[in-house]
Amino acid sequence: MKALVFYGAGDIRYVDVETPEPKPGEVLIRVKAVSICGSDLNGYRGKSPFRVPPLIMGHEFSGEVAKLGEGVTNVKVGDRVIVETNLYCGTCANCKAGFINICENRKIIGTTMKAGSYNGAMAEYVVAPANKIIPLPDNVSFNAGALIEPLANVLHAIKHVGSLEGKDVAVYGAGPIGLLTIMSAKYFGAKRVFAMEILDNRLEMAKKCGADVVINPTKEKASHVIRKMTDDVGVDVVFDAVGFAETVKDSAEMVRNGGTVIWIGLGAATVEIDYKSAVARELGFKGTYMYITEMLEGIEILKSGKMNVEQIITGVYPLSEGPRVFEELVSGKSKDIKVVLHP
Ligand SMILES: [Zn+2]
Ligand SMILES: [Zn+2]
Repeated sequence: MKALVFYGAGDIRYVDVETPEPKPGEVLIRVKAVSICGSDLNGYRGKSPFRVPPLIMGHEFSGEVAKLGEGVTNVKVGDRVIVETNLYCGTCANCKAGFINICENRKIIGTTMKAGSYNGAMAEYVVAPANKIIPLPDNVSFNAGALIEPLANVLHAIKHVGSLEGKDVAVYGAGPIGLLTIMSAKYFGAKRVFAMEILDNRLEMAKKCGADVVINPTKEKASHVIRKMTDDVGVDVVFDAVGFAETVKDSAEMVRNGGTVIWIGLGAATVEIDYKSAVARELGFKGTYMYITEMLEGIEILKSGKMNVEQIITGVYPLSEGPRVFEELVSGKSKDIKVVLHP
């Protein structure tokens, strides 16, 4: 089969590899759509411990069942499917406590974790355990299906704050995760959504996705604008989908006393925090990672037709163009926001 193989920093090639065979309990999937995640771009930059070459990336995808391993009865050839890519162990202390998303023994399809690498969906075919297969409803396209994984990350992040109904919400970063957060916040009834982003085309997209106010922090200090627009109270919740020193600091300044900042972006390794102010203002900070049951919830939302995740897809290219697409996204030559590749 053809696959995009990551060989090292800046080196991804479209090559022939052996088509994987589903073992007992596994399913072979013909990939129909696979999207490029920011974490894949970090891998390509050679900056991620979670992408060790040689590796076929791709953890956001949809496809059709092509072949069943021995003993598989829950799906049949031709079924439209997506896959829960988090292959947690189910037996460790984290899993037993319900934190399957942060299982230390897990593999994730298309990545390298402590437990090892698992080839992903930037290929004609990918293998997945049958019990991780989720049916894709007929009225959800393959492209939208590929975005259910990142949407699940966002739905999980939102669960950490409970209801958004009637709340003022700020979202730092209007990349794919930020944009899905904006759409989800509106879906869950947020009163106003403020979006902060330094790229103007992404601010435009943020508006399309439902942001009520867009702010370019290179032109004005976001926390100043937000404080002015909230009678100096601040917003109830901030989702930081960037995670740099500046956004972490400004998030704490724009959130109301007693409010919550959700950290979802993986920008900086370490940041400084105004600790005393955070204590005295009773601020909540919560990291969020991956998802637990939220892929299923994401499917239900898309099935209802009430959220148009496909609008953030700005580029659909053949998988064979992957090397060019990765290079252009990382070098900044491309203005694409979310890219989907079709094998
Ligand atoms: Zn991802
Ligand atoms: Zn575990």
